[in-house]
Amino acid sequence: MSKIITGFLLALIPLLSFSQTTLQSPSEFLGYELGDRFTRHHEMVNYYEHVSDAVPHFQLIEYGRTNEHRPLIALVMSSKENMAKIEELRLNNLRRTGLIEGTATDDGTAIVWLSYNVHGNEASSLDASIKTVYDLADMSNAKMQEWLKNTIVIIDPCINPDGRERYVNNYYETANITSNPNGDSKEHREPWPGGRANHYLFDLNRDWAWQTQIESQQRMKLYNQWMPHVHVDFHEQGYNNPYYFAPGAEPFHLVITNWQRAFQTMIGKNHATYFDKEGWLYFTKEFFDLFYPSYGDTYPTFNGAIGMTYEQAGHGFAGLGIKTEDGDTLTLKDRLTHHYTTGLSTIEITSKNAKRVTQEFQKYFDEKGNNKYQSYVIKGSNNQDKIDRLLSWLDSQQIKYGSASGSKSSKGFDYLNNKSATFQVSGNDIIISANQPKSKLLTVLFEPKSKLPDSLTYDITAWAIPYVYGLESYASIESIGQRQYEAPIKKSFADSEKTPYAYVSQYKSLDDLKFLSAVLQKGIKTRIAQKAFSIGGQSYDIGSIVITRKNNEYYPGDLKKNLMSLAKKHRRSLALVYTGFMDQGADFGSSSYYQITAPKIALLGGPQTSSLSFGELWHYFEKEIEYPVNVIYTDYFSRISMDSYDVLIVPNGYYKLFNESTLNNIRAWVAKGGNLILIENALKSFADQPGYGLKKYANEEQKKATEEEVKERKVKEELNRYAEEERNSISESISGVIYKTSMDNTHPLGYGYSDHYFTLKNAASHYAYLPNGGNVAVIKNPSAYISGFAGINAKSKIDESLVFGVEKMGAGNVVYMVDNPLYRDFWENGKLLFGNAVFIVK
Ligand SMILES: [Zn+2]
Repeated sequence: MSKIITGFLLALIPLLSFSQTTLQSPSEFLGYELGDRFTRHHEMVNYYEHVSDAVPHFQLIEYGRTNEHRPLIALVMSSKENMAKIEELRLNNLRRTGLIEGTATDDGTAIVWLSYNVHGNEASSLDASIKTVYDLADMSNAKMQEWLKNTIVIIDPCINPDGRERYVNNYYETANITSNPNGDSKEHREPWPGGRANHYLFDLNRDWAWQTQIESQQRMKLYNQWMPHVHVDFHEQGYNNPYYFAPGAEPFHLVITNWQRAFQTMIGKNHATYFDKEGWLYFTKEFFDLFYPSYGDTYPTFNGAIGMTYEQAGHGFAGLGIKTEDGDTLTLKDRLTHHYTTGLSTIEITSKNAKRVTQEFQKYFDEKGNNKYQSYVIKGSNNQDKIDRLLSWLDSQQIKYGSASGSKSSKGFDYLNNKSATFQVSGNDIIISANQPKSKLLTVLFEPKSKLPDSLTYDITAWAIPYVYGLESYASIESIGQRQYEAPIKKSFADSEKTPYAYVSQYKSLDDLKFLSAVLQKGIKTRIAQKAFSIGGQSYDIGSIVITRKNNEYYPGDLKKNLMSLAKKHRRSLALVYTGFMDQGADFGSSSYYQITAPKIALLGGPQTSSLSFGELWHYFEKEIEYPVNVIYTDYFSRISMDSYDVLIVPNGYYKLFNESTLNNIRAWVAKGGNLILIENALKSFADQPGYGLKKYANEEQKKATEEEVKERKVKEELNRYAEEERNSISESISGVIYKTSMDNTHPLGYGYSDHYFTLKNAASHYAYLPNGGNVAVIKNPSAYISGFAGINAKSKIDESLVFGVEKMGAGNVVYMVDNPLYRDFWENGKLLFGNAVFIVK
C-alpha cells in the first residue's frame, strides 16, 4: 500500500485501519541479532512502539521522562480478551488490596511486573526485555498466548535510561571494532562515575521507598495503579559469578509471609529446570537479603508481591564479551539469554498458579492490625512544613492518615526519647492507623527498631520515619480514633500601603531555607538573628530571617513586591514590620543580627569523590533548594583559582588530591573568608594536618589505648575459626545506624533545630571533640544509640565523638561533617543542617 497519505485520507485512517503492522522479530526490525550490539535506548523504544502497533491490544504507556528527557515506558500485555476489560481487571486487583472500595471478584488473573536495567551498566537486561517482549507478542507462540489468558505481564524495559546510555556511549567510544575480551582493555573499564546510577548519580535500587528521584516518583505512580503480584528486578553482578535467582538470602524481614517465601522457592525451582537442562550454573539463598525496604525486591514484597532480584554475571566490566576466570568468554548473548529464560519462567510458573497467587495476594492485605502498635501519632505541634513533607511522602506510599478525633492519654513508644511512655494525644495530632491496606509497609517503615533476625546484611539497618523527619512522634499500643485530616490554617500577615522598616520570616525548615535561597539569589541582603526576639505579638527564634530596608536601599527592583511574591511562591508567612524597636530581644539595629549574601559555591566532583555523595550534593542544589552550584572536577581542581568562590564542598571520597601544598592553599583561602565543608571520608585527609584542628584522638593517652585495644582484638580474631571471619569483621562495622546527638542550637550550624539531632551513621570513624571550635553535634554517651546494627567494637569507638563541628580559621570556617546529612537524599532532617553550613555559618 502506498505510504503517501493525503490530508483527506488521513482523517479516515482510524475507520479504515488498513495499515495493520505485522510483527517483526528484533533482528528484522533492528538490523542485527540481539547480543551483537547493545541496543540503544531510543532503538528499544522504537521496537516497543512497533510491537504495540503490531499487537494493537497491548498497551504502551509513557509514564514519564528522565532528567535527560528520555522517555520512561511500560508495556502492558495480556490476551485480547483480558485487554478488552483491562481496566476492570486492574480495579478488581486494587479492590483485593482495599486501596479502593468494593469487593474483589475472584477473576484469578495474575499480574507479573518485570523491571529491567535499574543499574545502567548492568546492560544486558534491556536487550533481554526485547527478546522477552517479542515472544509474548508472537501470536503463533501458543504456549505463551496460553499464559497470557490468565496473566497480565507489565514490562518496564529500562528503569534508568540515562545511566544505561552513559554506559553504552562510553562503551562504544572506547571499544575496538571487534570487541576485545581482554578485561584489561579500556572497553571494560568505565570512567568515573560509571553507568550504574541515574543522571544525579543516585542508585535507583535504593530509592523505591524514598522516591527522591524523578524516575522513581513517576514509576511508583504507575506501580501503585497496578499493584502486581510478582515483581522481578533484573541486575548483573561480577562477571565470574553464576546466575542468582530466588529464593533470597536471610535476613528476611519478619513481616514477610510464609506464602511469599514458599512461592519464591517454587519460582526458583522452575528456573532451575531450565538452567539444569542447559548446564548453566546458578545459586540461590545467599547474599541478596530481603531487609532494607527500598530495593526493587523488598519494596514490592512489603506491598504484597513476590519481590525478587535476579543477578546475571556481567556488569560494567563485561562489554560484548569478556574472558572469565575459567577461560570461557562471557558474551552479551549469554547474558541476555539467561535473563530472558528467567523472565519467561517467572511468567510461566505464575500463570500455572494464577488463582493461588491472587488469593494469597488478597490474604496479605486482609491480615492486618496484628502489629504491636495500632496507631502512630505525629504531634501536631511539630513544625508544619516538616509535617507537610511527611504527609506528601505518605501520600506517595498510599498510606492513609487522619487527625485525632479528640484528646486522650495513650501508651506506647516515645521515639524522641527512645523509651516506653505514656503520652497525651490532642485534636491536632496526626494519626496513622496500622489497620489499613498498607499496614505491613507502614510497620516496616515506622517500627522503632527494625527487627533484624541476623546481623549480616549489606545495607543500612535503621530507617524509622520519625527519626528521618526529626518529628516528635509516638507509636501507640491502642487504636486511636481519627477523623479526616484537617490542615491548620496558615497565618498570613496583612499588607499595607506603608513601606515596611523590615521583613521577618522564621527559619526552621527546608521550605524556609528554599525561601532564603531564592531571596539571596535576587541579590537581597539578608540578616540572621543570633538571638530570639518578638514583635507585634509574634516571637521569632534564633536563626530567623530579617530583611531591613536600610541594608537594601540600593536594591534595583521593588523590594517589597519581590519579597511578597517570593513569600507567596514559597508559602512563607512573611511579616511586614514597621519599627526596629523590638518588644523583646535586640532591636534590628543591633550587631546581634549578622548579614549574609549569596555565596558562590564550588562543589568538588570527579574521580576520588564518591559519586553517590557528589550526586546527593548536586541534586540538593539543583532540585531541593534550587541554588546555582559550580561543579569542579578533581583532575583540574589544583589549576583553578579558589578566590572567586565563597564555599568549597568536598564530598565523601577516597582522596589523593589533598597533599601538603593543596592543604596549605585551601587553608590560606579559608583564612581569607572561605567556608570549607568536608563530608565523611573527606575528613581523613584533613585530620591531624598542620593548621587544621580536627584530631582523630583527643590526646596521646586515648590514641595509645585504642591502638592497644586493636592489637588485642587482632590476636583474638586470629584464634577464631576461618568460617567465622565474616562475622568477626562485622563487630567493627556500622550499617546505617541511628544515633541521637546532643546539639548546640545556639551555633549557626544548629539554627532551626532543637537540642538534639538524629544522625544516620554509616561508618565507625571516630574524631575527637574540636579543642578550639564549635562542637555542634556530638555523641556523648552510649545512650545516644537508637537503632540499627552497630558491631560491638564499632559502638565503643563512637562514644564521646564529634558528629558535626565548625572550626573558625581566620575570616573563614571549616565545617566538619563526620556523618552525611544528605544520605540518599531521604534523610529529611539533615537538609536544613546542610543549608546552614552553606549559608548561615559565619
Ligand atoms: Zn544491580
